[in-house]
Amino acid sequence: MKSDARDPDAGAASGGQEFSGVGVSAGIAVGSVHVIDSGLAHVPEYRIPDRAVSRETGRFADALDRARAEVAELRSKGESLNASAREELGFLLDAHLALLASNRMVAGVKSRIREERINAEAAVSLVISDIARGFEGIADPYFAARVHDVRDVGSRIIRQFVRAPSPRVAGLPKGVVVVADELSPADIALLDPEHVAAIVTASGGPEGHTAILARSMGLPAVLGVAGIMDTVRTNDRIVVNGEEGLVLVRPDAAVLAEYRRRSAAQRRLGRQLARLRSLPAETTDGTIVGLQANIELARDVDTALESGAEGVGLLRTEFMFMNRDVPPGEDEQYALLRSVVDGMKGRPVTIRTLDTGGESQVYGVHQGRSEGANPMLGMRAIRLSLRHPELFHIQVAAILRAAAHGPVRLLLPMISSVHEVREVREIVCEVAARIKDRSPVAIPPLGVMIEVPGAALIAEALAREIDFFAIGTNDLTMYTLAIDRGDEQVAPLYNPLHPAVLRLIRMTVSAANRAGKPVSVCGEIAGNPRFTSLLLGLGVRELSMTSKSVPRVKQRVRVTCLKSAGRSAEAILELGEESQVARMLDDFNRDL
Ligand code: PEP
Ligand code: MG
Repeated sequence: MKSDARDPDAGAASGGQEFSGVGVSAGIAVGSVHVIDSGLAHVPEYRIPDRAVSRETGRFADALDRARAEVAELRSKGESLNASAREELGFLLDAHLALLASNRMVAGVKSRIREERINAEAAVSLVISDIARGFEGIADPYFAARVHDVRDVGSRIIRQFVRAPSPRVAGLPKGVVVVADELSPADIALLDPEHVAAIVTASGGPEGHTAILARSMGLPAVLGVAGIMDTVRTNDRIVVNGEEGLVLVRPDAAVLAEYRRRSAAQRRLGRQLARLRSLPAETTDGTIVGLQANIELARDVDTALESGAEGVGLLRTEFMFMNRDVPPGEDEQYALLRSVVDGMKGRPVTIRTLDTGGESQVYGVHQGRSEGANPMLGMRAIRLSLRHPELFHIQVAAILRAAAHGPVRLLLPMISSVHEVREVREIVCEVAARIKDRSPVAIPPLGVMIEVPGAALIAEALAREIDFFAIGTNDLTMYTLAIDRGDEQVAPLYNPLHPAVLRLIRMTVSAANRAGKPVSVCGEIAGNPRFTSLLLGLGVRELSMTSKSVPRVKQRVRVTCLKSAGRSAEAILELGEESQVARMLDDFNRDL
């Protein structure tokens, strides 16, 4: 890990360096940098106490097992190749397996951990470098190629540490701004919001789960900041402006003072908004709008209640599966879900079944399973659950048991066809019948996420099968416009104001209203006050968002006249271009 003992305010008098990226979580933070190197080129190295030797040896053994499983998976993928390619791959993988089993490597790593008291990944990196150097000294093309294999094997093992629970983001000092190439949703879930002031990464787009989590934890965040890792050092003074997507490294004294002033003003505004907590979310013409919270972990319940949310509109259960090697069992899931249901004290809790795959990798679930060539379109979310009953039945059982303790709703992610809903209904009945003699259960209302354009287009048919809809505009925008929500390169193109997205929302709301089924929006636009009048105008009456946004959205609801919002939305739906939509919406909002 890089580190630098410079004076944190060094440079404060000599100007600084400004970077821009994608501002994904508003707020201003002034802090000192803590660099996290995630690249394999920079393997973290730290000293371990005597008592941690067996833990590190165990981490190494686990990483080896996973690396071997990866090679086995590659081999089975290779079965479909033509004979000569298969043979070629076979030789290569044999060489990798031999290295993974080689005494020089395995014993070498263990002895470095034991004797040098260093962490496992650092020990792997050192041993691999030693072995590679040995081959480099031999002037023969065959051995030169082996150097490559050796380094590949090293990377493969080290990658396992990065994917597995990692100590790199836990236990950070107070007030730090974490700067990294990339942070996975699982990494963010491990950050302590009391210690971390903000997040800056070189990659990542506006609505990836890293961005969503940063918002839900109230951490200012700017992602997709090109070049940041070449410039910052641990302990540098840094300003993060999450609203405008700006990062200022080693700013001068005047800039620092200005940002400290803005940060204090923001805290004052937060206190003013908090006073709205006990007031209803009621439009000026008397319609009550339901405002609920999106949460990821049981620890978010208190923040949801403090924000004034009337329930949980989306519980993303995949976070309960992250940062661990094996998925939680039925009892553990039940205990976690029940703590949310109990914590919400009689308010509704909408539990979404596992939505992993793509950027939200869950090690214990995805290990050993092929990702497919295009994970966002592959075996993720409900498809994975239906394909793997051994996982899904356990989760359903835990949800039905939790439902016996309060008003739970069961929500299915990434539904694209009616038959998926029918299959789930059958499973729910089957599981209930199987477990009802051993534990109290309740069968909750069943709803679907509308986040695939095809599902919006058949909302009418889905409405006959389900009890409620939740529109997931994050994925709906991604799949409608074919723009990866987590990719900074196409971030400027990602726009939920695109007329196609708005029409799909409208179509879903109309189908739900005709069938008398509740419909909410739980994508990130639900928590952005810029979109509030538009969503209300499109007929949406329930919004679910990160808790921190509830007061700001409530404030916007309370100044909105539903009738004029409806007229404005009708006019907006006539437009063919997102820039026109943005102009008309901003004009409407300005007059509120
Ligand atoms: C969505 O896609 O809008 C949504 C709410 O689900 P997630 O962000 O978890 O994919
Ligand atoms: Mg989604």
